[in-house]
This record gives sequence, structure tokens and C-alpha cells, in this order.
Amino acid sequence: MLSNNLRSALSGIIIKENWPLSPLCTLGVGGEAEIFTAPDSIEQMKIVFSAAMNENYPVYILGGGSNVIFPDGLVHGVVISTMNLNSIEWRTPFTADVDAGFKLPLLLKEVREHNLGGLEFAAGIPGTLGGAIAGNAGAGGHGVCELIDNVITIESDGEIINRNNSMIDYSYRHCGLADEKRIIVSVRMTFRPSQHEDQKIFENFMMMRAKQPHGHKNAGCTFKNPGGYSAGKLLDECGCKNLSAGDAVVSDMHANFILNRGHASSSDVIELIELCAQRVYNSTGIKLEPEIKIYGSCLFSQ
Ligand SMILES: Cc1cc2nc3c(=O)[nH]c(=O)nc-3n(C[C@H](O)[C@H](O)[C@H](O)COP(=O)(O)OP(=O)(O)OC[C@H]3O[C@@H](n4cnc5c(N)ncnc54)[C@H](O)[C@@H]3O)c2cc1C
Repeated sequence: MLSNNLRSALSGIIIKENWPLSPLCTLGVGGEAEIFTAPDSIEQMKIVFSAAMNENYPVYILGGGSNVIFPDGLVHGVVISTMNLNSIEWRTPFTADVDAGFKLPLLLKEVREHNLGGLEFAAGIPGTLGGAIAGNAGAGGHGVCELIDNVITIESDGEIINRNNSMIDYSYRHCGLADEKRIIVSVRMTFRPSQHEDQKIFENFMMMRAKQPHGHKNAGCTFKNPGGYSAGKLLDECGCKNLSAGDAVVSDMHANFILNRGHASSSDVIELIELCAQRVYNSTGIKLEPEIKIYGSCLFSQ
């Protein structure tokens, strides 16, 4: 139940109650947000975030929903979407200030149209730039965080902080900015002039994508590759392909992908994720860590 304090702090900001989350998540699962809002300015976002944090209200930041699972049923708290923070401003021929809600595929398109390079590895990765930074999304040994000059965030106490690259700790599918509750709102990035090989690199990434499962809703790779191993290969060797729970099934094309055959629930997907992790652990002793952010109660709750 929304407190009066929070309700009055949010007056003047468009909020939706009991808002369905599954259409906003690429896996197509999850229940309804008790409160959903998509502020269209940093100021508004700061008001919502600070008000919710002051009231100890759970806050979830949502980008493109391509790497996240919300629980079924009513999700208590405020889901703050970055979808309306979505502009880009080129500061120099090489440097752009990009809002967190700007789509990563559109950024790649802009970068290529400006005859710049270095982001080819992002070909085929959906979602927003903010989500990509939060998880250091990438492929082929690269991650988006390597292209950051500066990141502007709203901290949980409402402070706005501008950090440069050297102040941010990032590694394979990890960014220290995501360790605590804060919102990435804007990112300054510098790209290098394009090189002859960039087109070939881009095409190779696109070819790799064509070999990944498609045709069903999914959230990309389920697990991170554990040091030196391919999670997909381990899952395959442990017989996980085609395992299912309800309408959630492990792809027979790539064992690290879970597909929603149509009416999967969040608990179906989570049950399957736990089953796969357990199988790999029982056979190899390796504990897989989910790449997908799972909210709600499960073995890997955040
Ligand atoms: C078909 C497919 C292929 C994919 N391939 C890849 C791949 O090759 N490599 C890869 O790394 N990923 C891949 N992914 C996963 C996903 O697309 C990326 O992780 C993506 O960067 C997530 O961005 P998002 O905006 O959708 O984040 P969301 O799913 O909305 O959020 C993910 C997490 O980031 C947090 N977050 C989002 N925005 C912000 C913000 N502004 N501030 C703070 N926290 C924020 C959320 O709270 C959540 O914890 C793939 C997904 C699909 C569906």
C-alpha cells in the first residue's frame, strides 16, 4: 500500500498502478508493478527515486527488459523505467552524450553512420545503454564499459555524481555501478575513427547472432561463462537441452538460452534455471552464476 508521504511526493509525476511488466521484458514473463513510472527528465527521476528510497520502498530500475526477470504476481515497490530518457547529443565528431534509455542497437547504428568504430561487438544486443553499462554487456571479449568516458548517476541519497572511467570497476559482465542502488542516467562515450576491418567484424558478429535461437521470447544467455569454460557447452554436456518447466524450455540450439514457448510464467523460468544450475553443479562441481538479473525469491535472488 503506497504511503501518503510517497503518494504526495509523486504528485505531478505520471505513475501507473498495477502495471504489467511482461510486455516490457523480452522473455515475456513477470507480474505487475505496484507502481510504474517512466520519468522524462533527470529531475523527475531524482524526485521519484529519492522519495521511494526515503520511504524504504523497493525500487527496480528497468531499461529494455532484455536481461531481467520479475516475479509473478504483484511486484511490491516502484519500477522506474528509463524509456523516456532517450536522447543523444554529439559533442565532437567522436564523442557523444547518450541518455541511459537510448537503445544500444540505435547507438551502434549512429556510431557506424558517423564513420566511427569500436562498438561492432554490440551487434545484435538488444536493450538500452544504461542496462548495457549496468551489466557490462558485450561479446567477443569486449564490453561496453571500455568505451565510457564518464557516467552520470543518481545515487540513493539523491546526489548526482559524475564518474570518469578510471573510477568505475568493471570486468566480464560486471560493473561496480550496479552493485548498489543507483540510476545510470547519462553516459559520455568516445569512439575511434572507423577502420577497414570494422565492417567484417560487424558482419561476423551478425553471423554469430543468426546462429543463436530466435522465434521465441528469451533474455539472451542465462548464465555467465564460468572462468575458462563456456556455460552453453557445460549445460549441453550435462543434458540440459530441451529440459522444460511449464512453457519455459532450454533451447535445443544453444543450451544457455531459455525460451518462452508462449505462456511461461516467471516461476517456470526460475525453476528451469535452478534445475540447470543444479545439474551442472552435480556433474561438474561448477556453480553457474546467472547473467540474467532475477528478482524475487529463488536460489539466485538479488
Ligand atoms: C536475443 C538476446 C541476445 C543477447 N545477447 C547478449 C550479448 O551478446 N551480450 C550481453 O552482454 N548481453 C546480451 N543480452 C542480454 C541483454 O540484452 C543485455 O544485458 C542488455 O545490455 C540489457 O539491457 P536492458 O536495457 O535490457 O537492461 P534490463 O534488462 O532492463 O536491466 C538489466 C539490469 O540492469 C539494470 N539497469 C538497467 N538500466 C539501468 C540504469 N539506467 N541504471 C542502473 N541500472 C540499470 C536493471 O536494474 C537490471 O538489474 C541479450 C539478450 C537477448 C534478448
